[in-house]
Amino acid sequence: MSEKVKSIRGMQVLLPEVLEKWQAVEGIVKGVFNAYAFKEIRTPIVERSELFHRTIGENTDVVAKEMYSFKDRKDQSLSLRPEATAGIVRAGIEHSLFYNQTPKLWSMGPMYRYERPQKGRYRQFHQINMEAFGFQGPEIDAEIILMTARIWKLLKVDHLQLEINSLGMPVSRKKYRTELQNYFSDHRAILDEDSLHRLEKNPMRILDSKNPDLQSIIEAAPKMLDFLDNESSEHFEILKDALTSNGIPFILNDKLVRGLDYYTKTVFEWTTDQLGSQATVCGGGRYDGLVKELGGQDIPAIGCAIGVERLTELVAVSNENPQNKQPKIYIVAVGKEAQNQALVLSEKIRDLGNGISVVMNMDGGSFKQQFKRADKSGSDLALIIGEEEIESGTVSIKSMKSDAEQKSVDEAKVLEEIKQYL
Ligand code: ATP
Ligand code: MG
Repeated sequence: MSEKVKSIRGMQVLLPEVLEKWQAVEGIVKGVFNAYAFKEIRTPIVERSELFHRTIGENTDVVAKEMYSFKDRKDQSLSLRPEATAGIVRAGIEHSLFYNQTPKLWSMGPMYRYERPQKGRYRQFHQINMEAFGFQGPEIDAEIILMTARIWKLLKVDHLQLEINSLGMPVSRKKYRTELQNYFSDHRAILDEDSLHRLEKNPMRILDSKNPDLQSIIEAAPKMLDFLDNESSEHFEILKDALTSNGIPFILNDKLVRGLDYYTKTVFEWTTDQLGSQATVCGGGRYDGLVKELGGQDIPAIGCAIGVERLTELVAVSNENPQNKQPKIYIVAVGKEAQNQALVLSEKIRDLGNGISVVMNMDGGSFKQQFKRADKSGSDLALIIGEEEIESGTVSIKSMKSDAEQKSVDEAKVLEEIKQYL
């Protein structure tokens, strides 16, 4: 026997039974995007590495440790995308999507991060992304959060909690950063290696540390909300009011800094206590400087990403897929001539175009074997063609879901008859 080829660690196959749930989720999500007038965009999975270095930031975990980067045949450094925003912004600038326009875009697809695989954390995982460009005010922040809340509601996912924070504008953030650097420098002796590294390059990331020994000094650290500039402060107040008037509870989490460098003002996460330490189902925020940073105009933007593996884990119902509600027909055909006719009939049924799923028996078999297969396929109706039917120019119809008698129908009337059964 030949040796088997192994899969790559952290890269999951999505099997058909899992995908039923995924398709249900996708169906609902697409409906919600339509309701908010978001349009789909699909960007390449591979981009120049530079794009992620310049946007996500050199000193973030994603860029420093988690990227899949490689040289192509022309010696260019390319990377598998670890997130969607950078590519969408790059593509939007290239195709003038932001010029005198305010696009609202959504996207879905695989992302790649070299992390330690565990439940809810993979090296290939999927995100549903939404981004809105050109809107300055906090209403769009609220709308995006409301849109995600609607998705949870339609998927009947509870136990999700909204956490929000504001990181301010670059000026106030810089002041805060210095303050934080001074504070943590005074506690240098307690810091772990990771945090010492962050202290120089990215001190706000220390707030994100999960090390229990650091929690008390993190707790006592200066708070960003005390350093907020007036504009960010006002923006944040309006957002909070908007959430309250729409009945969306939230908690203020002043430790919420998010893993990527490009955020400004509003940041938020939806977290759950149902998924162990992989608690964040959705995260996002404003990135007002990013489009300009990448060579576009100076336009504000906001976006967020839902982790699809984590979300589907929380979705209980799998049979909401409309495809599962569509009727199924199995065609039992015994004999060469019958098989030939069955193929023609199956195409005619599909021509009806009303979503009926048709399974034609393949590779022969006795009546008994074929009925067994029909049963296993979960079909609603069996159409039977045997020698008798061929001779009399009929097709027999049998319901697979009731005890109704098998019925013989004239070949020409079979399509009409099917409609009555379904
Ligand atoms: P975490 O803190 O769990 O590592 P993150 O802050 O790195 O998350 P984001 O970059 O904000 O994640 O990505 C948005 C969402 O994508 C996350 O909230 C999560 O649901 C999902 N996600 C991120 N990394 C992974 C992964 N390796 N496997 C599965 N889902 C992931
Ligand atoms: Mg991460």
